[in-house]
Amino acid sequence: MAAPPADAAPEPTLRVDGLKVGFGGSQTRLIAVEDISLHISPGRTLALVGESGSGKSVTSLAVIRLLAARGRIVSGRIALRDKAGAVRDLVELDEPALEAVRGNDLGMIFQEPMTSLNPVLTVGEQIAEPIRIHMGLSRRAAMQRAIEMLDRVGIPGAAERARQYPHEFSGGMRQRVTIAIALACDPVLLLADEPTTALDVTVQMQILNLLRSLQQQQGMAMLFVTHNFGVVAEIAHDVSVMYAGQIVEHGTVRQVLKTPRHPYTRGLLACVP
Ligand code: ADP
Ligand code: MG
Repeated sequence: MAAPPADAAPEPTLRVDGLKVGFGGSQTRLIAVEDISLHISPGRTLALVGESGSGKSVTSLAVIRLLAARGRIVSGRIALRDKAGAVRDLVELDEPALEAVRGNDLGMIFQEPMTSLNPVLTVGEQIAEPIRIHMGLSRRAAMQRAIEMLDRVGIPGAAERARQYPHEFSGGMRQRVTIAIALACDPVLLLADEPTTALDVTVQMQILNLLRSLQQQQGMAMLFVTHNFGVVAEIAHDVSVMYAGQIVEHGTVRQVLKTPRHPYTRGLLACVP
């Protein structure tokens, strides 16, 4: 087979085809999202935008196979290109294999940082533990990397801060800690579900700037969920607009902001200050 041209787009890190998710066990089936197809290449950010209840979180949790107990992938394919370059369909993997993929190749951050942090462990321990397990470093080397990560996410005095507990951090600083945890094992894909929604506006901008610069350094693909088109414009390259469980419009951020085609997108844009 001929080699692809040098300027060809890189193979996507994530490619989702025809994803359909239902709730309510095997009998009753509330279909939460369907016909979801998307792809994200290394170094690119795809925003999923839509109003509350449109299916953004279900989509993003399904992609990492972390649906709530009664949630089920009814059909679809979720192809992830891992660090070693192997492409695997996450729908096919069993729980131990998924655990390994989540630890090695995926990072995630959510709206409320406290939900991802353990209140009784120091932040240094919380960052170091997955590093130790998934990167096979000694306790000491893992803690050293944890401190470097705290420094990289902009926490001053990282070595001292590593010995503190989550409640000793402000909301914005806690979100920086969860970013350090998410990126510690150098994931190929970062999933961010409304990570700045609970923060005030100046802190929100700082976190978006941080995520942008970390993406430039680490080159991971990012799936960024938000209900806010202002945030989309700040962080994303591409955008898929969700409405009632489906993607109703997709394009580059520039295209969609400038010439939205779907009436729902126009409505959402009219709400941007
Ligand atoms: P968004 O993140 O866009 O606000 P969600 O993805 O959380 O929306 O929800 C999409 C739809 O899926 C909603 O109609 C919601 O009722 C349904 N849903 C989400 N989680 C569950 C659940 N655990 N059980 C049943 N239905 C759910
Ligand atoms: Mg949500």
